[in-house]
Amino acid sequence: MGKQSTSQTQPAFLGGAAQTYFDRNLFDQYIQQQGYRVLLEKAMVCPCKGEGTDHRSDCLNCLGTGYVFYDRVDTTVIIQGINTETQFKEWSLERAGLVSVTSRNVDLLNFMDRITILQTQDKQPVLTEFSEVVHPKVLDDGIIFAFLSYTNVQPITVRAFQGTQKPLLVLNEEQYSISDNNLIIHDDALLRESPLSISLRYKHSPQYHVVDEVRDVAHTNFLDVQNGGKLTSRSMPVNAMARRAHNIIDADRFRSNQLIDNAVIK
Ligand SMILES: [Zn+2]
Repeated sequence: MGKQSTSQTQPAFLGGAAQTYFDRNLFDQYIQQQGYRVLLEKAMVCPCKGEGTDHRSDCLNCLGTGYVFYDRVDTTVIIQGINTETQFKEWSLERAGLVSVTSRNVDLLNFMDRITILQTQDKQPVLTEFSEVVHPKVLDDGIIFAFLSYTNVQPITVRAFQGTQKPLLVLNEEQYSISDNNLIIHDDALLRESPLSISLRYKHSPQYHVVDEVRDVAHTNFLDVQNGGKLTSRSMPVNAMARRAHNIIDADRFRSNQLIDNAVIK
């Protein structure tokens, strides 16, 4: 076998070339000043996957989704909706729920990382609205219960299906309660409609999963005048596409709080 070697491309001649430099501090300051305060949960692949088998659906670390969240960081990122350029093309479901996320290089983004918007910079809560249908189950201890897709829920209206020929039954606040992402039904009489089917519209904290890393490697060179004008490289902010949590595959499993909490406080 011949000896392996690497050839080198001739470097470009730089004599007399004008040089421009990005100022990372300005980018970082912009993110800090204009971004949302978010909870960034770092995702990693669950090791329940065998060499020739898929992730196990009975694994309480991932419930078969294949991902666990091992770290939570309170930080600031820029989030912008991108399904807005529809002036010359049709709106597309393929891009539904997609946003662009830009973070400082200290918060590198990876596939399936979960981002929950907590507040604006002036500490105002950030809420959006969502509607979904759930089918509460009766647990062994008699509690009637269903998971919701999002956390920090403020219900707007909760209504039960009573058959195709009757109007929906508007539930009052004594008939249900919501804690975190759990809907608990307190009125046993609702079980007469079988199966119990409940529609909700509520406010909640927006939540996303990273689905694509657009700019995951980003460095810039600059002349460090405090270091004798030496050419030095600096890491720049990174950018990723993220999708609203209910639009991702296996969304109903990620919402479950049966999952073992793998977050470690460092
Ligand atoms: Zn697993």
